[in-house]
Amino acid sequence: MATKTDAAVAAHSRYEPVIGLEVHVQLLSQTKIFCGCSTRFGDPPNTNVCPVCLGLPGALPVLNRRAVEFAVLAATALNCQIRETSIFARKNYFYPDLPKGYQISQYDKPLAEHGYIEIKTASGPKRIGITRVHLEEDAGKSLHDGLPDSAEWTSIDLNRSGVPLIEIVSEPDISSPDEAWEYLTRLKEIILYTGVSDCNMEEGSLRADANVSIRPHGQREFGTKTEVKNVNSFRFIRQALEYEIERHEQVLESGGRIEQETRLYNAAEGKTYGMRSKEQAHDYRYFPEPDLLPLVIDEKWRADVVAQMLELPEAKRARLVAQYGITEYDAATLTSTRELADQFEQAASAARNPKRVANLVQSELMGRLKAKGLEIEQSPISMHGVAMSADLVESGAISGKILKDLYDLAFERGEDFPAIYEKEKPQQITDTSAIEKIIDEVIAANPKQLEQYRGGKKTVIGYFVGQVMKASKGQANPAIVNELLAKKLES
Ligand SMILES: [Zn+2]
Repeated sequence: MATKTDAAVAAHSRYEPVIGLEVHVQLLSQTKIFCGCSTRFGDPPNTNVCPVCLGLPGALPVLNRRAVEFAVLAATALNCQIRETSIFARKNYFYPDLPKGYQISQYDKPLAEHGYIEIKTASGPKRIGITRVHLEEDAGKSLHDGLPDSAEWTSIDLNRSGVPLIEIVSEPDISSPDEAWEYLTRLKEIILYTGVSDCNMEEGSLRADANVSIRPHGQREFGTKTEVKNVNSFRFIRQALEYEIERHEQVLESGGRIEQETRLYNAAEGKTYGMRSKEQAHDYRYFPEPDLLPLVIDEKWRADVVAQMLELPEAKRARLVAQYGITEYDAATLTSTRELADQFEQAASAARNPKRVANLVQSELMGRLKAKGLEIEQSPISMHGVAMSADLVESGAISGKILKDLYDLAFERGEDFPAIYEKEKPQQITDTSAIEKIIDEVIAANPKQLEQYRGGKKTVIGYFVGQVMKASKGQANPAIVNELLAKKLES
């Protein structure tokens, strides 16, 4: 799509995309949602199964309390209202990996509703509504390839059958593939912070489907939508949406009609293909699940669950900016994962001067990472290393110049700061007579500054410190330099 015709560009400017996302997130409970089978990923096929998750006749589901708590946590983090009484429903459809012939989900009374995620856009912050968050069980997995007899057979693994999921349905508030990417990135970040899922896309713990339609600017009614399913990275979702939007534009501009259908994205070709006509809700013949009681989450339980909630990314960013005086941009980088944010805070609070840790991250670490094209998780210098280096500068054991050199070496050799420091521990000049000699030379060479100092402009001492450090090639002990200089200048 690198070369667009003028007509395609013109069509593009006439339409506005309308995008909604449905995200399935696997909850990290140790057992399945309606039975005691393990949810562990990667076990031999069909080993974590029982009559309930195999869908054998007469087996009865029992709801997993932990899964409910995780869902409440996630929904609360997504600013949703938790419904006191929600109802499980049967979603009826046939699929080889769904032995019961229905999936237990929630329909008209979902667990939570009316939430939102705030995303950043070119024109400022934007709120994307979340229609609902509901609980459901996963189906099994059909394996069409990768096994010795895959040419002849499709195999079925029911280990995943009954694994707890939440489905997070957005409002059609998303207006571009970039906004979709941003929404998914924020969503994943929030869910990771709550700790209810590992959001591992390769293992299927996070799956996103996108609904997209276009309409002429200014039109209120939605166009016919298509759904792109099972795309396995946020980048591919953005690409699939870009492709779909352009396809819609071409179809409409040439007088055609968009068919409501489900399409699959082929990442290698960068194209979507029609898979089947899209089902409507009534195709599923939803009805309340007769084997489960209504799910009642009273105020006390809800409050107990929410009380376990850790600080969420948005709040953490605001606090780091206020507490450590770092920029919003750096706060965003440092909070990209909870682990990294925790490391930073540990380092900052263990160091003598937390602000100096933040400054070093900002001034010395980020620039070097950027120059090497590294993410902060790949930094050779750990947060512990940054804290150690900050303390060394703070105590005057090393100068700022030496710190820079050691950071350069750490990046060159891919080693952490403590290791580099041990090997390259600078030969510091602590011999007072040697330092005194340098100071005398510097004072003699700068009579004008000396006059200013003695005239009462005490801040000029900073200039002298700089000159002495420079003359010693950064090796003079800064604490001794300061002490001796003050004496000499006063005398
Ligand atoms: Zn089971």
